[in-house]
Amino acid sequence: SKPAVITVLGATGSIGLNTLDVIARHPNDFELFAVTAHSRIDTMRQICERFQPRFAVMGSEHVAATLRLQLRELNVNTEVLSGEAALCNVSEAAEVDTVMAAIVGAAGLLPTLAAVKASKRVLLANKEALVMSGQLFIDAVRAANAQLLPVDSEHNAIFQALPETVQQNSVSTDFAKHGIRKILLTGSGGPFRQTPLADLGKQTPAAACAHPNWDMGQKISVDSATMLNKGLEYIEARWLFNCQPQQIEVVLHPQSVIHSMVQYVDGSVIAQMGQPDMRTPIAYCLGYPERLNSGVQPLDFTSLGELTFGQAEAARYPCLQLAIDACWQGQAATTTLNAANEEAVSAFLKEQIAFGDIAKICENTLAQSELSNITDIEGILDCDARARRVAHSLIMRG
Ligand code: NDP
Ligand code: MG
Repeated sequence: SKPAVITVLGATGSIGLNTLDVIARHPNDFELFAVTAHSRIDTMRQICERFQPRFAVMGSEHVAATLRLQLRELNVNTEVLSGEAALCNVSEAAEVDTVMAAIVGAAGLLPTLAAVKASKRVLLANKEALVMSGQLFIDAVRAANAQLLPVDSEHNAIFQALPETVQQNSVSTDFAKHGIRKILLTGSGGPFRQTPLADLGKQTPAAACAHPNWDMGQKISVDSATMLNKGLEYIEARWLFNCQPQQIEVVLHPQSVIHSMVQYVDGSVIAQMGQPDMRTPIAYCLGYPERLNSGVQPLDFTSLGELTFGQAEAARYPCLQLAIDACWQGQAATTTLNAANEEAVSAFLKEQIAFGDIAKICENTLAQSELSNITDIEGILDCDARARRVAHSLIMRG
């Protein structure tokens, strides 16, 4: 069969590079159409040399011009573009079958939506895009009949544990009809699961980014330390699988061997297990409904040791409850929370605020924002911008 033509948004990141690693193992099955990055020129140059994509998109014309010169010297024919319109163009281009949405944060919203509206097979890693636009995003998936496959390991695990008939249209999952009771979303608890509560507030960016099980980009690593990541994933699960309150439960599982589970009405629980390596869910999405070799070593159960489970402590992870509350409060709440968190995490990484301030900035931004009804993407972008202004002033006030 013909190779799938693919665009990788956020190709220089942790998910992007893992995606390229899997693609490189199957040169006859995939053809790289476009790759995008923000500012990492060196990584992008290496990607272009190795994969020779048709297009590379960078964040600014300045960066694009530098890359263009370097590629010309290397005789690489990749055409270098820049800016948000170009990101959308390489997502919706007629030649493209599949888009890996792996930009971090709100910057991924419009290019990911462009892929959805163009009815592509969309491999969704960029959870923030779905969190900030929820119903509108899902409506766009339905309207365009796009195929949405979850890359996030938990959602990928849940997807794998659902009946095939539900997988065909997971955004309309009917829990009662398929005997599904609830989704069990597992999380490791991050690097500070056992840190004395009194020491939590003063943790450094380096400590927050040292996740015990997963090697990820900085933003999601900090989100894992606050467990806002699990909160965003709760919201993501709500939209991906059409959940009601009481149909999603967060379970602490420090070893990250089980990646999430689905509980059925007969008492059965179906779990997906594997190494904490994103190439497994990425390969699953790339190959679906077939299985591809991902390069990931199988689990060795004889040396695995104990698998343990528990509950996330409310006092340790205030961001988790903020997200769960926002999820059922409405779109403006989740858009606001996502924006406030992005601003807070970025300030924390620059050491402008303490680790303990991230939750406070999220909470206070929600409290100070007018959470009015949102009906379109302009409304989402306005809400996001307003929340960033509020969060920014809170950060500056210290
Ligand atoms: P990284 O920070 O490693 O990579 C982010 C990518 O997005 C890079 O290619 C980066 O370009 C690009 N980018 C950053 N800012 C912009 C911008 N303003 N405009 C356009 N592109 C931009 O992130 P991850 O790979 O860790 O995460 C990507 C997404 O996947 C996130 O939404 C995350 O939540 C999700 N995810 C990640 C997992 C992981 O294991 N890493 C697991 C599950 C989900 P540049 O390199 O030039 O800065
Ligand atoms: Mg995850």
